[in-house]
Amino acid sequence: MNRRKQIYEGKAKVLFQGPEPGTIVQYFKDDATAFNNKKKGTITGKGVLNNRISELLMTRLGEIGIPTHFIKRLNMREQLVREVEIIPLEVIVRNIAAGTLSQRLGIEEGTTLPRSIIEYCLKNDALGDPMVTEEHISCFGWATHQELDEIVNLTLRINDFLCGLFQGIGIRLVDFKIEFGRWYNGDDVRVVLADEISPDSCRLWDMKTNEKMDKDRFRRDLGKVEEAYQEVARRLGILPESGPGDMPGSKAMQ
Ligand code: 5GP
Repeated sequence: MNRRKQIYEGKAKVLFQGPEPGTIVQYFKDDATAFNNKKKGTITGKGVLNNRISELLMTRLGEIGIPTHFIKRLNMREQLVREVEIIPLEVIVRNIAAGTLSQRLGIEEGTTLPRSIIEYCLKNDALGDPMVTEEHISCFGWATHQELDEIVNLTLRINDFLCGLFQGIGIRLVDFKIEFGRWYNGDDVRVVLADEISPDSCRLWDMKTNEKMDKDRFRRDLGKVEEAYQEVARRLGILPESGPGDMPGSKAMQ
């Protein structure tokens, strides 16, 4: 991990220069933060699981024609991705009321929304990632109208696909956050799905019990955090039935 030049260290990932120009290595850490960095901790094995979960979801999305930054998984904690210019927005999709939507608007957590909602937050830790509108986004040049159209189009397809995928394994996709980047390929610039999709960035509820299977277990001190991430991986077919002990190289999860 020290061989390569570190480009950036975020809360849950470290980015290194990739082996080829235009590539980046994404390293997934076990570190967990919440409430704009006010709560910090470690979820043992999270980096390994999120690397695998994000690989699977990005690969499946790629198969239905969603352009993504993902190239390939390199090892337990690293994946090779295309270098993109991150569009400084968190794109949040909500299918069921939860989290800040419920807090802000007083809508009871668990209420199914009449239609899916897309929200945007500016990626700015110092400001606490404030919610912004399309007016702000185009006024301040964070994305063009054309890019936003593309983002909405891709986001709705991603939501439809992921809702179905999770439903197939008994999980409700309550909400999630995704990020997009500009991929410069010669004279061509394309908006592509970037960052990660994992239980760190999604709310996932068991369809039968409504049990939370995501980072809310850490945020809200619900316990069994590691188990929840493992269960998502197991249902996705990434973990063997008998648990992470059977995973090749599972010691590396520590
Ligand atoms: P909320 O706005 O209710 O806190 O979050 C909505 C959804 O977006 C949740 O699934 C949450 O996990 C995700 N989300 C919102 N902000 C962030 C963030 O800064 N990082 C990550 N990983 N996910 C986020």
